[in-house]
Amino acid sequence: MKIAFIGLGNMGGGMAANLAKAGHEVRAFDLSEEALARAVEAGCIAAKAANFAVHGADAVVTMLPAGKHVTQVYEESVFGTAEPGTLLLDCSTIDVETARINVANAASYDLVAVDAPVSGGIAAANAGTLTFMVGGTDEGFARAEPILAAMGKAVIHAGDAGAGQGAKICNNMLLGASMIATCETLALAQKLGLDPQKFFDIASVSSGQCWSLTSYAPLPGVGPVTPADNGYAGGFAAALMLKDLRLAMEAAASVDADVPMGSKARELYEAFVEADKDGRDFSAIIQTLQK
Ligand code: NAD
Repeated sequence: MKIAFIGLGNMGGGMAANLAKAGHEVRAFDLSEEALARAVEAGCIAAKAANFAVHGADAVVTMLPAGKHVTQVYEESVFGTAEPGTLLLDCSTIDVETARINVANAASYDLVAVDAPVSGGIAAANAGTLTFMVGGTDEGFARAEPILAAMGKAVIHAGDAGAGQGAKICNNMLLGASMIATCETLALAQKLGLDPQKFFDIASVSSGQCWSLTSYAPLPGVGPVTPADNGYAGGFAAALMLKDLRLAMEAAASVDADVPMGSKARELYEAFVEADKDGRDFSAIIQTLQK
């Protein structure tokens, strides 16, 4: 299959490489020449501009920073360039409203679009083990699934247009709030004189168990190896968590949902990201709670 891939950054680079490895003809484009050169090394074909990649492609994958970038690429390089019937898969994390508008606008050009954001970081993008949550029609999902399966371990149809983005930001709001709860709990346990590994052993098999504790323990030397054991480098940058929490708050406001824990998590990550100059993993927020 001929696939245009636009946005070859931390995530898109590995994803495009996995599509090429699966035997697809991947026409890649990024504004960054370094990113484009890396994609060529990984088996993709460099396009001079996004519309060159899109022309004649069976499918167009985008992996861009935010909604405004996706809309710009769609309006300038996809709509009017892609053949009718072409499948558009936007894997970026963007706001639900923009995702729905993009899908509707694509339909007016006879294009089939799905929102397909991912869970899993750079390592999962490189390894081809992402989880995709897909919003769109049954037809869109059926066509998207085999393409996404070449980049991930799970592909789930979340519902209609925008449902993929809805699932993504709900999941990450839960993750942000549960990470902070895990961090403040570990800090309290330490202040109460408990050995943190002992507390980890207890809570991991008790009712306080959660992914942030058991799989992503935010203290070095406690539980499995996590970014905490690497000076909080790598992993999922706190700035990206803040981006997702802001999207969650926007979505909550649009449907008048009450999200006090998500709102507090957003507030705490805002303060953390502003003060942290090293772009550390989101679990490093524990250091602000240990003081
Ligand atoms: P990134 O900044 O590393 O990559 C984005 C790429 O898009 C850059 O290479 C940039 O040059 C390119 N770009 C921007 N505008 C463009 C345009 N108009 N045309 C062509 N290329 C353009 O970001 P990332 O970490 O790869 O994240 C991409 C998306 O995935 C974001 O929406 C992010 O929220 C989401 N996400 C990231 C992670 C993660 O761990 N990094 C995890 C899950 C989801």
